[in-house]
Amino acid sequence: MKCFMVMQGHTYQEEQEKGFIWAAKQDSSGMPSHSWERMMEVEKGDLIFHYVKGDIVAVSVATTGCEVAYRPSNPQNHALWNDPGYFVALDVHELDVPINIQTKLEEISPLLPNKYSPFQANGHGNQGYLYPCHEELSIKLLEIIADSNITKIEDEQLALAIGTVVETERNTLIPLLAEAESELKTKIRLEERTFHARMMPLWAHQCTICGIDLPIVLQATRAKPRKDCTKEERIDPYNGILLCANHAILYKKGYIAFDGQGKIHIAEEMSEENHKKFGIHRQIKIARMEQNKPYIKWHKRYLFIDK
Ligand SMILES: [Zn+2]
Repeated sequence: MKCFMVMQGHTYQEEQEKGFIWAAKQDSSGMPSHSWERMMEVEKGDLIFHYVKGDIVAVSVATTGCEVAYRPSNPQNHALWNDPGYFVALDVHELDVPINIQTKLEEISPLLPNKYSPFQANGHGNQGYLYPCHEELSIKLLEIIADSNITKIEDEQLALAIGTVVETERNTLIPLLAEAESELKTKIRLEERTFHARMMPLWAHQCTICGIDLPIVLQATRAKPRKDCTKEERIDPYNGILLCANHAILYKKGYIAFDGQGKIHIAEEMSEENHKKFGIHRQIKIARMEQNKPYIKWHKRYLFIDK
């Protein structure tokens, strides 16, 4: 199962009522758009979050894969909408309590990818129609949706006499959220296991900075974080460095980075005193492999806090 975010605005009402999303193949000048072409990636069973004017208002499941088809209707008589485009049929579940992205920005922004993020750093939705939504961001959104919507459902159900619970839109939301979350977490767990197993031997099972080899403190630390990876990069054993917990956190937070040659760069914010306490100094050069280069350079460019 993959997840996506559809940015709908004024088309939401009609698309929700008829249960579909649709995008033209190209704009009026004949140019394709990444956010329209992404429709082709949608498969039956995929999960879609619906974003309308600042809020996530619904969650749906694709009941078909992407098909090339005419838009079911064209109420605004839009010229581009008269030609066949990318169509996906959906089973839409509207939320009782919409999720305002601005108010949840603190939780969401660390999970936004550098590329093809549905939201800007200030929480505003980006231009475009369909965006990918990686597993960690999707799990966070599912948790926020459940927190806001399920408590209300349970309270209402408690108030109903046993046997009178009617099959409503809300009754179907709970299993949908729970199943999606569980499936995404399983997918992450399997990928993490593969990544760890492949990368540990490349670093002789020890922290490449300090040599600590106690397994419990060793962390297979990605250079390019999961949220920014392609499917292949997530399990590429060269996308990471084996570090002890202390050095791993410095690397993840961008307080240290390594250049293409493996030479360490230490953020100004770290005092000389802390260098000593962490056992680091500017002469450190890690034994990076050629295949690590693109990843550690990406990390230095985007995550090192001293630009
Ligand atoms: Zn270490």
